[in-house]
Amino acid sequence: MVDFVLAAVLALIFGGVGVPIGRAAGRLVPLFPRHDPDPGDDGPPPPPTCPHCGAEIPFVSWLPGLSRVPGFWKHGRCPACAQEVRPSAAVAWGVPIVFAVAGALVIARPVEPDIGVPALLFLLYVGVVLTVIDARVQRLPNVLVLPSYPVAVLLVLYGTFAPAPAYEPATGPAYANLVTALIGMAALAAFYWLLWFIYPAGMGWGDVKLAGLLGLYMGWGGLGGVVSGAFLTFLCSAAFGLTLMALGRAGRKTQIPLGPFMIGAAFVVVLFGDPAALLP
Ligand SMILES: [Zn+2]
Repeated sequence: MVDFVLAAVLALIFGGVGVPIGRAAGRLVPLFPRHDPDPGDDGPPPPPTCPHCGAEIPFVSWLPGLSRVPGFWKHGRCPACAQEVRPSAAVAWGVPIVFAVAGALVIARPVEPDIGVPALLFLLYVGVVLTVIDARVQRLPNVLVLPSYPVAVLLVLYGTFAPAPAYEPATGPAYANLVTALIGMAALAAFYWLLWFIYPAGMGWGDVKLAGLLGLYMGWGGLGGVVSGAFLTFLCSAAFGLTLMALGRAGRKTQIPLGPFMIGAAFVVVLFGDPAALLP
């Protein structure tokens, strides 16, 4: 009973922290319009721009999605035309909801030892934003994915060396988890690169660039989580594609973005532990 009340209180606190973050992060979504490069066109994808006037809204280069425009986070006004960029409702709601789930699981964490709250919340923030952008315009923008690597590695390093919280038995640095996380990062990036190399039409290059980040997180609890996460990704995206085809909403050539399924599987593994452990 005490655990339940504590979990509910932590869910409310984490969800509350997620509200302003989700609102600010939701403004990133309209900055990325649809971009369909011609085959063979390797030009750089368009930078984040105002959806009203097309002026560029530059980001701090080493932080994913943090605008360099003063006040953009707070009021969402474009520096050129002063119109408001309205936040995506899916991100504005999605971030507090996944933060609340993470808060409810802080005590009853299935993955021991903990990867650390900062690393966990960072994945959830970036994951919700990328899921919504990929589902909307089939892109995983470099300006969000690439700077997430150094940030995530630093936060996972912090999780490795940070002292255990008071409610947990004191342990030394989680070296074993750090090692499997780094192997997971390299292994999943290599696996997606191989799939892309064999059949480039099957997935986007953006999926390959995202894979290492998710492998880092899924590998923290052991390499089994990386395998389960990849399996879950393809199982769910295939089931989704077959459902769309059965409903007559998609043909065999319809491109279904893989990013939301990759991120969803990573959320499951990181929040609830390796799903294969539940099998008899
Ligand atoms: Zn503008």
